[in-house]
This record gives sequence, structure tokens and C-alpha cells, in this order.
Amino acid sequence: MKEQKPGYCTLCRSRCGSLNTVENEKLVAVEPLPGHPTGGALCAKGRAAPEIADSPRRLTRPLRRTRPKDDPDPGWTEVTWDEALDDIARRMREIADAHGPQAVAFAATTPSGTPMVDSIDWVERLVRAFGSPNLLYAVENCGWHKDYAHELTFGADIGAPDYDAADLIILWGHNPARTWLAQATRIADARRRGARVVVIDPKRGGSGQQCDLWLGVRPGSDAALALGALRHLIHERSHDEDFVRSWTNAPYLVDLATGRLVRSAELPGH
Ligand code: SF4
Repeated sequence: MKEQKPGYCTLCRSRCGSLNTVENEKLVAVEPLPGHPTGGALCAKGRAAPEIADSPRRLTRPLRRTRPKDDPDPGWTEVTWDEALDDIARRMREIADAHGPQAVAFAATTPSGTPMVDSIDWVERLVRAFGSPNLLYAVENCGWHKDYAHELTFGADIGAPDYDAADLIILWGHNPARTWLAQATRIADARRRGARVVVIDPKRGGSGQQCDLWLGVRPGSDAALALGALRHLIHERSHDEDFVRSWTNAPYLVDLATGRLVRSAELPGH
């Protein structure tokens, strides 16, 4: 029996809406799902879902190593989920009792590019409830600043861009046509509506091929471009001065000797 089931691709953070053809309980085809908020397109990885689901190399049951870690033959033996979970819980408890929970390190695949995206919050809760500060992520170079730099600098994450209302969209070191298909679809919609798209990236492939202006900076020269753009805005007085004064640290004094912002306590008379 052949059925078509609406759903979404879980293989990365984009979560593209998909129409899944299931024949005799086997996934045989995946297509975009127009009408779904993220269903405009699927990348090659999403379309390959039937191969992934049906791959003989896919791990679907827990395996326990029965030989030492330096043995070239791990001696994998299939165990039930209950056995695997009991074994892991017992060992975690033994280590925590002997050395403290911080002696246990957890590792997770990247939430950006794997199905871990829908589970990572629960993994983080487990790690914190257990009491370990050690969670190892495989995070891409492009993901680290997005997830942490804003949080550490401003106390909040980078937020979600409002592509639907934007007149100008600047993609700087971000290539959603390659890495976040649902965003690329929304940007294409915005461009059709009249928004202009600028891409700043040494490589043109992907979003750089679908923009109004591509600035192919040399790797490592982004700061020079940013400073040049700032200088131009100030020189032409085309910046929003009220906004800059109220919401940025641009009007603050800088101590040229240290390069740090001057504190009120350091001013004469304080
Ligand atoms: S971009 Fe590709 S892998 Fe990611 S959710 Fe969409 S189809 Fe799946």
C-alpha cells in the first residue's frame, strides 16, 4: 500500500516541510510540501532520507563493545534498550559516587546539522540535572558566533531576522542557500517582493548567486570592510544618530592608552 504523509525533514535545523511517500511501511520518496511554512524546497540531504532510513549501515539497535578499546575488533554485541540504558546509568552513577558528577563528560552531535536539533534541550537538561558541566558539541565555525558571541556580548541570542518585513537583507558569513534552506526560501520571497539582498562572503556559491550585490571579501578582511562601512556612514552622516546615541556604545569615550571604554570613576572629579 502506498501512502503520502505530511511531515518535516529532521536532518537539520531548517526543518523543511516534506511530503513523504511510504510504500509497504517503507519510506520511498520525500518531496517539498508547498503550503507548509518551511516546505518550499528540500536539499539533496533531505531528498536522500529514504536511503538514510533504509541504509544497512544505519544503527538502529544499541551495541555493546565486548573487547578492550585498543582491540582492532570491538566485538560489538547487540543488547536491548533496557540493558543499554541500565548499563549507562549504573556506570554514570559509579563515576559520580567515586569522583563527582563533573568527572563525567557528555558528547552530542551538532544540533545545526543533525536530527539532534529536536533533542538537544533534553540532553542539556539531563547533563545539568546530573550535575556535570561537561557537554561537548561538534559546532561548526559558522555556528559558534551565532549561538554564543551575541549571548556573551549582549546577554541575548542573535534573534530571528524579520525577512518578511525587511527592505535590505545583509548575509554576512551566512549562506542559507547551503545551510538553512527554509531561510533561503524566505529570502527569495522577500527579494521577489522587492527587498534587496547583499551577500558578504569570499565564496559566491549558494546565496551569493541569488543576491543583488555580492561582496567577495578576502578571508580575514571582514573587519576592514566593517570599519570602511562605518566610516562612510559617519562621513556621509547617513547613520541614525539618535539610535546610535541611545542604543550603542559609540558615543562613549575610549582611553587610547588601554583601548578600553572610560568609566565615570576614572574621570577627573570622581
Ligand atoms: S535543509 Fe535539507 S537537511 Fe535541512 S531540513 Fe531542509 S531538506 Fe532537511
